[in-house]
Amino acid sequence: MNTRIVVIGGSAAGPKAASKARRMDENAEITIIQKASDLSMASCGYPYYIGGFFDDRDQLLCSPAGVVRDSKFFWNAKKIETKVRCEVQSIDRKKKIVNYINLDNGKINNS
Ligand SMILES: Cc1cc2nc3c(=O)[nH]c(=O)nc-3n(C[C@H](O)[C@H](O)[C@H](O)COP(=O)(O)OP(=O)(O)OC[C@H]3O[C@@H](n4cnc5c(N)ncnc54)[C@H](O)[C@@H]3O)c2cc1C
Repeated sequence: MNTRIVVIGGSAAGPKAASKARRMDENAEITIIQKASDLSMASCGYPYYIGGFFDDRDQLLCSPAGVVRDSKFFWNAKKIETKVRCEVQSIDRKKKIVNYINLDNGKINNS
């Protein structure tokens, strides 16, 4: 059975941890659960965006190759499943289950 890894949070540290896990285990089932809409957001770049140094907000989400790091990117490039706009509410360590709510439809799920 493949190792199952759930990463909570998908801004800077989360995708980094998930990507490292993928490099260490090519067969693991890796999922990122992210409360916000964006993945891999370069928040350090906000002042430059707000300051008018560039207009395209997607640049805050781009890889060095200019590809926006969205759910499709994470799946195609790294086989990492992502669930955006989903907020983790609890972790059942004994059952190894993470409970989360889909913020768009209010449904409770687990992973
Ligand atoms: C304006 C600005 C400038 C910065 N400049 C620099 C810099 O020059 N150099 C530097 O090293 N750092 C800088 N930083 C800090 C750097 O951006 C942060 O250290 C980094 O974003 C932290 O990443 P993180 O993933 O640990 O946390 P966060 O960026 O806080 O991400 C946590 C993520 O987890 C999600 N989340 C939280 N709770 C839940 C939940 N229950 N379920 C699901 N998802 C959840 C949140 O939605 C969020 O997306 C700057 C930050 C800002 C705002």
